[in-house]
Amino acid sequence: LTVLGLETSCDETAASVVRLHPSEMGGRAEVLSSVVHSQIDDHAAYGGVVPEIAARSHVEMIAEVTRRAMAEVDMGYDGLDGIAATAGPGLVGGVMVGLSFGKAAALARGLPLVAVNHLEGHAVSARLGAEVAYPFLLLLVSGGHCQLLEVRGIGDMSRIGATIDDAAGEAFDKIAKALGLGYPGGPALERLAAQGDGSKIDLPRALLGRKDCDFSFSGLKTAAFRIAQTCETDQDKADLADAVQNAIARQLSDRSERALAAYAETHDHRLFVVAGGVAANKTIRATLEATAAKHGFDFLAPPMAYCTDNAAMIALAGAERLALGLTSDIDVVARPRWPLDEARALADPSHK
Ligand code: ATP
Ligand code: MG
Ligand code: FE
Repeated sequence: LTVLGLETSCDETAASVVRLHPSEMGGRAEVLSSVVHSQIDDHAAYGGVVPEIAARSHVEMIAEVTRRAMAEVDMGYDGLDGIAATAGPGLVGGVMVGLSFGKAAALARGLPLVAVNHLEGHAVSARLGAEVAYPFLLLLVSGGHCQLLEVRGIGDMSRIGATIDDAAGEAFDKIAKALGLGYPGGPALERLAAQGDGSKIDLPRALLGRKDCDFSFSGLKTAAFRIAQTCETDQDKADLADAVQNAIARQLSDRSERALAAYAETHDHRLFVVAGGVAANKTIRATLEATAAKHGFDFLAPPMAYCTDNAAMIALAGAERLALGLTSDIDVVARPRWPLDEARALADPSHK
């Protein structure tokens, strides 16, 4: 199955062609092309994503980005089995651009349309680098989400914990902004932290040791804002960045441990996957890998290029849905909110 995927839910305009080779493990994915146009320069002056500017930029770029992704593969639209587009959650103006473009292409070429939940894309993204069998325990850490999920298969996921306030990526971005690091903050904060030593800085340890699998970052954020105002030197800032990164890693690890222990009681196949933009952070990857090993779990993270937003993950989720016969009606609508637990509902009438 070969699928063109389109992604426009935030500030990346992306298109990708992915081929799914069926196998007993759920299929091996082959990325034939993956083009990502980042809008970072358009938003940098505002210190964050401006929805109206994002939507306009998607309109300007979607045709060119798709043309490039298709030009890189040695076949035309005739070689495709379907077109997948992100239908939410995200900035709805942007989502509408990619979804409408996908609908038009599907109609014009007589191809099935698959509306994909952006988070489902992140959930399968580790499968772009290795053949990963379902089920697995997933920590989804991105700019807008921080959740632990039991992933039984495509469209078959349940949430076992989530943040009660900010997402981890959001915490990275806001604290980075307070340190004057600009946007996007996560990668900049990671670079600064490499020069710092945060061991002497005391940050709140929210929810640590609590029995559920929820997260909280607002206390950490407030404390970091306060300390940021007292930073006098670049070294002070680097030390704070290191402390913040370690505190976030510690919380992600502690909350995941709860889920790992519970999951291990009911599953023999023990695989822990982390995905989403924050999974690109090396300290967090290493911390979670050690946590997984401690509980006897294999550990997997997506290739770096597929942690932050991309269309290869959307194409793969689309291909997996297509393999199950889960296509979408042409009048499917863009959804600003769309919990992953009900990802199947949109495409499968029996679940409405
Ligand atoms: P969502 O997927 O929840 O809708 P999103 O699509 O905006 O949100 P992603 O593209 O998955 O989020 O990830 C972007 C987030 O990841 C940003 O918050 C960014 O700061 C963070 N991030 C990216 N790289 C790193 C890094 N190296 N360290 C920490 N955070 C990072
Ligand atoms: Mg982005
Ligand atoms: Fe994302």
